[in-house]
Amino acid sequence: METSFDAIVIGSGISGGWAAKELCEQGLKTLVLERGRDIKHIKDYPTATMAPWDFKYRGDVAKEYLDQNPLISKAAGFADDTKHFFIQDKEHPYIQEKPFDWIRGYQVGGKSIIWGRACQRWSHYEFTAPERQGYGMNWPITYDEIAPWYSHVENFIGVCGNKDGIEAMPDGEFLPPFGLNCVEAHLRDKIKEAYPDRHLVDARWAQLTQAREIHLQQGRGNCQSRNLCMRGCPYGGYFSSVSSTLPWAAKTGNLTLRPDSVVDSIIYDPATRKASGVRVIDRLTKEEFVYKSKVIFVNASALNSVLILLNSRSTHFPDGLGNRHDLLGRYVGFHNYRASTSADMPGFQDKYYYGRNPTEPILANYRNLGEQKMDFVGGYTIFTGAYRSKNHNIEGVRFGHDLKDHLSQPGGWKVYMYMQGETIPKAGNHVRLSDLEKDQWGIPLLITSVDYDYNDDLMVKDFIQESQDMLLSAGCTHIKSRDNRQAPGLDIHEMGGCRMGKSEKDSMLNKWNQIHHCKNVYVTDGACMTSTGNQSPSILYMALTARAAKHAVGEIKSGHL
Ligand SMILES: Cc1cc2nc3c(=O)[nH]c(=O)nc-3n(C[C@H](O)[C@H](O)[C@H](O)COP(=O)(O)OP(=O)(O)OC[C@H]3O[C@@H](n4cnc5c(N)ncnc54)[C@H](O)[C@@H]3O)c2cc1C
Ligand code: SF4
Repeated sequence: METSFDAIVIGSGISGGWAAKELCEQGLKTLVLERGRDIKHIKDYPTATMAPWDFKYRGDVAKEYLDQNPLISKAAGFADDTKHFFIQDKEHPYIQEKPFDWIRGYQVGGKSIIWGRACQRWSHYEFTAPERQGYGMNWPITYDEIAPWYSHVENFIGVCGNKDGIEAMPDGEFLPPFGLNCVEAHLRDKIKEAYPDRHLVDARWAQLTQAREIHLQQGRGNCQSRNLCMRGCPYGGYFSSVSSTLPWAAKTGNLTLRPDSVVDSIIYDPATRKASGVRVIDRLTKEEFVYKSKVIFVNASALNSVLILLNSRSTHFPDGLGNRHDLLGRYVGFHNYRASTSADMPGFQDKYYYGRNPTEPILANYRNLGEQKMDFVGGYTIFTGAYRSKNHNIEGVRFGHDLKDHLSQPGGWKVYMYMQGETIPKAGNHVRLSDLEKDQWGIPLLITSVDYDYNDDLMVKDFIQESQDMLLSAGCTHIKSRDNRQAPGLDIHEMGGCRMGKSEKDSMLNKWNQIHHCKNVYVTDGACMTSTGNQSPSILYMALTARAAKHAVGEIKSGHL
């Protein structure tokens, strides 16, 4: 196999897939290094078309597997039909100095196979709020700079939604929305009556409601409303790297994909002041290889990218690549998903809905837009939905035809809301390498030291009060809220550790996602996030990656890299 390339991409998930697509399309011979096994679209979705009765335990995971995997089995969507796309605990240890549930999916496609697909844009509020409200620093880029790249990504992956004209959640290039069901529409109207500045809108989701030519060219078709996405979708109805960006990159003839390749570190050459390549350990044989390239994209998912950079130690950078000011591994943030509220909605008994909607309506952030008005900083997005529950009214009907008939009647309407809150990036919330313990490939274990703070508690309190009030104003009954106090990490939106900024004194990366002190290394996954905002982050990683790839190609062509 070749050992020299124009570009190397570390990781083949959401952001790595985008780096591969853009770099290959622009003519760079690109090597994608992925630590996990290979996954091919359709062929490697073993459960995609299985019926509930095809599963040994009808969908439940065997107790033995659960006992062996107490951490990963907490993840949203982990079940018997999806568990093969999540890691197993004992193979990938790390050290929790403070409780932190680090959820990972190690395979070609990474977590793009099992992600939730919510795709809202950040607003200009989120890019500027940290500095305005004094809880962080501004991003080195503005919303206007990234907006065309959001469009670029949305057009390619396909995002459904409605143009709602909300400043806190800008519109994008949308395919038709899924639509609200009758109770969701009722909620929207009642909330608007009681709170004119609150907008409950259609889901903005990476789901093909009406495939366009560009999606058909990817071999993808319309979503069939099965809501079995996390098994992998044979229709390509939702976006993942394996259904979209990676095969697209392969079609250019410029892609080399090497699965089972655990990247150990990046090699720095002090003579050129650039990285010369990466050191890789074969996952299965444990053999070591070195691959060289002009440019390196680090897309191993936030904390793994930081781990690789921390482990890239040299005489020049003893504390990790480009880490001159003890910033690498610091300012780790996440999303606060602790609280949810559920309720019954009386009435609407003669109404139902068609299909299994794989999306959720969104209530855009309404807190601290512009000025800080609350006793906490930052804001939160709310995901919501309404559905008909199971009919439990089977009293007196014990067996046979009657029982089946009763069970197939829908029960009453249920409504839920849950929060996705911004957290404050703090130097103290950090990850670092263990000096003592290593994994089976000889790579130091990551230590996570990340926690909530008082701001998060205040935000949870506000969400609980407001969600209850909104549901009450819509006529709901039996309203119940819960703060589950889950550990950070379970949100699966870990961010930061190698943040972008205007100055090398307080950031690791410049406005193009290049390491200030090693310009041919670009970090474009969640590690680069200057703050966490309150919107789902992955589409921003994709937009930043596409923008950075264009920059890298320009730098190579002009001889700077
Ligand atoms: C259940 C669930 C629901 C989610 N819902 C949403 C949502 O609705 N909206 C949203 O925006 N986000 C969502 N996310 C988060 C989203 O999946 C991540 O933000 C996104 O996948 C991050 O992209 P990435 O490229 O950084 O990482 P990944 O997609 O995880 O890809 C990283 C890849 O790098 C590989 N890798 C790691 N270390 C190494 C190494 N040393 N060498 C080589 N390869 C390596 C991994 O195996 C992996 O394939 C969800 C995640 C989950 C699991
Ligand atoms: S809901 Fe749509 S995207 Fe999800 S599995 Fe079904 S067809 Fe595929």
